Amino acid sequence: MIKDIATPVRTKAILEKYGFSFKKSLGQNFLIEPNVLSRIVDHAEVTESTGVIEIGPGIGALTEHLARRAKKVVAFEIDQRLIPILKDTLSPYENVTIINEDVLEADVSKAITEHFSDCEEIMVVANLPYYVTTPIIMKLLEEKLPLKGIVVMLQKEVADRIAAKPSTKEYGSLSIAVQYYTEAKTVMTVPKTVFVPQPNVDSAIIRLLVREEPIVAVKNESFFFEIVRASFAQRRKTILNNLVHFLANGKELKQNIEETLTSVEIDGRRRGESLSIAEFARLSDALYEAFS
Ligand code: SAM
Repeated sequence: MIKDIATPVRTKAILEKYGFSFKKSLGQNFLIEPNVLSRIVDHAEVTESTGVIEIGPGIGALTEHLARRAKKVVAFEIDQRLIPILKDTLSPYENVTIINEDVLEADVSKAITEHFSDCEEIMVVANLPYYVTTPIIMKLLEEKLPLKGIVVMLQKEVADRIAAKPSTKEYGSLSIAVQYYTEAKTVMTVPKTVFVPQPNVDSAIIRLLVREEPIVAVKNESFFFEIVRASFAQRRKTILNNLVHFLANGKELKQNIEETLTSVEIDGRRRGESLSIAEFARLSDALYEAFS
């Protein structure tokens, strides 16, 4: 059995062999604890029929755990310096393809078509670069890729916001954007000590199971998300005031918005953070009818 990449000793040896220096700007915090890696793969329920997309393989710590259990792994890595290292560290695994691209620019849908036609389900599994956590998750969801789910390590604070319920301080437009497409659950918190270098913040693993249909049906998706964002624009303001500010100013208009809120039985004095996703859907449909 080959020794895991993700042990402090082997990681150090690989980094020294290649004279690799971490780039903070690329969110390079590598995992050095094999148990955490197995837990990530467990939570993703990866099997021999799973195609896995990994984002940011680093020196291959998570990639090798995925390769041992999945049918195939396709990993997007932005840092060109890591490509020859990955070629070396992952040489025992024939089911891994590394793509040297920024995942935010990459055609992920094409990669899925090219590599996963013989897989039964597709999961995204990653220890994400923390500077772009939200754009990456939103890209994967908004492109409506044929994913079963996403299991990723990220900042605990972001995981808390994603999985938050209404009327909590963490609940906001990010919670609604992600829960619209997925069932979200934080499955594990992870201490800083399992990374080199250690990040400044605590981490967590979140599991997002993609819904067959969004949790609510809305008349216009982009208008719905605009209303959600506008409702949280100033968290301390009432929903009525945030909407008046968003939909332009004027007395007459304020009255129209008040009437629309009443028609869907939402008190305009409430704050955005108290509205459920279903209430936002009702509200945005009524405003869409009234104002478009
Ligand atoms: N998977 C490795 C591990 O767990 O040890 C490394 C994880 S490290 C937190 C994040 C990785 O993402 C780094 O290898 C970094 O170079 C890469 N990365 C950063 N931005 C990226 C982007 N936009 N697209 C693809 N990879 C990116």
